[in-house]
Amino acid sequence: MINLGKDLSRLLSKDKVKTDPEDLYSYASDSIRYYAKNNPDAVILPSSAEDVSTVIKYANKNSIPVTPRGAGSGLAGGCVPVDGGIVLDMKRMNSIVEVNRGNMTAITEAGTVLSNFHRAVEKENLFYPPDPQSMSVCTLGGNIATRAGGPRGVKYGTTGNYVLGLEFVLPDGEIINTGGTCVKNSVGYDITHLMTGSEGTLGVITKVISRLIPLPPCKKTIIVGCKTAELAAQIVSTITANGAVPAMLEYISQGATGFLNSYIKTPLISEMEAYLFLELDGIESQIENEANKIRSICKDLGVSDIRVIEDAKEAKSYWDARSKLQPILQSFFKKLIVEDVTVPRDKFPELIRALPEISAATGLLVGAAGHAGDGNVHPSVLLGEVNDETNKKSEEAVDMIINEAISLGGCISGEHGIGLHKSAYLEKSIGKRQVELLKQIKKAIDPDGIMNPGKIWTREAK
Ligand SMILES: Cc1cc2nc3c(=O)[nH]c(=O)nc-3n(C[C@H](O)[C@H](O)[C@H](O)COP(=O)(O)OP(=O)(O)OC[C@H]3O[C@@H](n4cnc5c(N)ncnc54)[C@H](O)[C@@H]3O)c2cc1C
Repeated sequence: MINLGKDLSRLLSKDKVKTDPEDLYSYASDSIRYYAKNNPDAVILPSSAEDVSTVIKYANKNSIPVTPRGAGSGLAGGCVPVDGGIVLDMKRMNSIVEVNRGNMTAITEAGTVLSNFHRAVEKENLFYPPDPQSMSVCTLGGNIATRAGGPRGVKYGTTGNYVLGLEFVLPDGEIINTGGTCVKNSVGYDITHLMTGSEGTLGVITKVISRLIPLPPCKKTIIVGCKTAELAAQIVSTITANGAVPAMLEYISQGATGFLNSYIKTPLISEMEAYLFLELDGIESQIENEANKIRSICKDLGVSDIRVIEDAKEAKSYWDARSKLQPILQSFFKKLIVEDVTVPRDKFPELIRALPEISAATGLLVGAAGHAGDGNVHPSVLLGEVNDETNKKSEEAVDMIINEAISLGGCISGEHGIGLHKSAYLEKSIGKRQVELLKQIKKAIDPDGIMNPGKIWTREAK
């Protein structure tokens, strides 16, 4: 007869095992407020890969589901333990083992909070660009497992572009190392990048080897007010087509600007249908050149509100406001569904055009903010009241958004992953054959299906 709490306390130590209902409750959901029907049966806080291995061997032997969890900041339900079992909370594994200036690489434990990692490498004049807006809480392990991105994706790519190697624990408990500190590696199948985006379904990431680049010496923020959403979309595609590559190019729709104004010195103008927030980085002459190019594109397109922010503190206030947008909206509305779709960059205007139509068709507020420079938009469906009717309408709105992205040649997730939220759309997005391949890979690595069951594809489609 198994007794999870007792068994695991004996195998590890008591302080690493939680079984009190009030502790377990907070592990039943993620940031989009997906809840498991029941609490997990136990939460484990490992402090080493060996601890993780011990837990997984025990779970494997007793067919107990295991759900890895970073900070629980995910927006697709990935860390929600839908079948109960064990949640592995990785946040005690938070050491930055090495920052190697000569090789421009770093080794960190998977529970390291992203902003702590940013600070550590920047002290060495190095740069780790991936910047999910949850960076003050989310972990590197969670970022890799969801292949997270952020505003800087437009110039620098996303988390997957910076993972050189991993230490992870397989579903049978064996600890393995893939990739390494070499920046080139062409040895067999790329298991490192198979784990990247695997959402905790293939094993538990315990250590990460990351590629770093030199820290850009200068940056400049430009804020552009656009009379129409279409104009904003046109500016985005013209900037891209003209070869200017901002480090960040964010789109903010009219509905959101009012919420940001309490953070910003010179308020955004409420009549503008959209704002673009841009950051340029690099050496000074390059920034000047790009700023001039952007200014002249905006002027040619008839923009009157162009703010080039010289003061670093003021620039930070715009970016702080941008990164707080989702929590701010969450505090004003009863329910917020943040979508995450990506379209080819030249289709960005069409996606933006479709949103008011979706709003009109469902009678719900549909706002948009997103990393417009790389075609990744986060339309949000905002509910003032939550009842059966608004819930049904919000599902319709989400369905329309996702279908619109697919019809434009886009993909159903740019950075949040599939989790529970998008599993019903997987086959439509990548086709039956690819879904079968994913399942075969899963079966080969996790034959008993103990790792994060219920995620990525729907059970009916099994
Ligand atoms: C305010 C806010 C802003 C956000 N902005 C962005 C953004 O700009 N870009 C973006 O990409 N995302 C964003 N997100 C979503 C979220 O922060 C990211 O998905 C993040 O990468 C999740 O990290 P986490 O540590 O919280 O992982 P969790 O939410 O705990 O887990 C996410 C998934 O990863 C798996 N996992 C976690 N750790 C491990 C591990 N060590 N080994 C194996 N699997 C693991 C889990 O099982 C789950 O499937 C935002 C979320 C919020 C709340």
